[in-house]
Amino acid sequence: MSSKQKLMVVIGTRPEAIKLAPVVDAIRRSDWAECELVLTGQHKELLLPLIERFGLQVDHNLNVMRENQTLSHVTARILQSMDDLLVQSQPAAVIGQGDTASVLAGSMASFFRRIPFAHVEAGLRTGNIDLPFPEELNRVLTSRMTRWHFAPTGMAQDNLLREGFDPASIWVTGNTVIDALHMMLSQSDVALPSRPGRPFVLITAHRRENLGEPMQHICAAILQLAQLHPGMDFIYPVHPNPGVRQIVHRALQGQSNVLLVEPCDYPVFCQLMSRARLILSDSGGVQEEAPALGKPVLVLREETERPEAVALGCNLLVGTDTSRIVDAAQTLLLDRTVYDRMAHAGSPYGDGQASQRILEVLRQTLIT
Ligand code: UDP
Repeated sequence: MSSKQKLMVVIGTRPEAIKLAPVVDAIRRSDWAECELVLTGQHKELLLPLIERFGLQVDHNLNVMRENQTLSHVTARILQSMDDLLVQSQPAAVIGQGDTASVLAGSMASFFRRIPFAHVEAGLRTGNIDLPFPEELNRVLTSRMTRWHFAPTGMAQDNLLREGFDPASIWVTGNTVIDALHMMLSQSDVALPSRPGRPFVLITAHRRENLGEPMQHICAAILQLAQLHPGMDFIYPVHPNPGVRQIVHRALQGQSNVLLVEPCDYPVFCQLMSRARLILSDSGGVQEEAPALGKPVLVLREETERPEAVALGCNLLVGTDTSRIVDAAQTLLLDRTVYDRMAHAGSPYGDGQASQRILEVLRQTLIT
């Protein structure tokens, strides 16, 4: 039997896989811990290519997803399956990331079994319990069940301190997404959907709160921009959610310089971000990755739990109003001074060493 400490890592969705892959990697390279990797099965088609890309070995797949499942059902199924697994595996600690049903149910199951929980990317808040829904609630509740809060930034740490958590349970580590970005940018054997010699704007938009009318406004802005800039492409990897696909395809299909493509493999997407002129996105991860690549982001949301990049000036919050998006994009595409100021504003989310710091904290507490 191995004398190493067993760390159980729980992954449900694409961003969790990206942000926990470097942690899994650090565990595997350590001489004191071993990893037991659990997929809850929340995302399938977006997750499996990532698992392969990062060379992750999956130990358990809880396979919880059912068609048209409600949030309560998915959370309950993960909670129950995690409980069974914890009894069977008896890990020394459980590690989860972010704000999904997987991290909520994973931390709760660990709490009920008195197994300490480590929360990666702890302390993000909008301060509005309804936005984003249900992620703000998921992360607020997860914090209450957490033993180690790994805050990516000082602002996230401040949020936790304001909520009364013990300062000795919080560590500022940087965001592990920058570790993942470094791992992926070294892969050069990728085929890109961009067209040779044509500059492009990169777009992602699929958040729950943007479905429906906001998404229509975003698409109207993309269409206007594409018509204003025929020499430029607008590359949009469209999320598999049918609610997103229907609106996007209806609004943008047929515009020759709008390239609607399938969701990209992570290394492809990293290369696209690093080559894009500008990025329009409502994604959390993209708001963290793009500043590390010196790319301005117009954030297609009314508020963000990542205010560091906005405060620094590398990201701009534009919401989903069509003319506001078009005006902001036009300024950046036409005014070099404004563009350079944003592109060189800096990167507040870490240095690529977050996973090592997290592992070191766990080692110091678990190996006594
Ligand atoms: N991403 C990707 N392929 C794509 C679009 C995004 O690999 O076609 C990556 C992106 O770099 C980021 C993550 O997926 O790291 C963001 O996922 P998502 O927007 O689903 O979640 P969020 O970051 O908002 O939690």
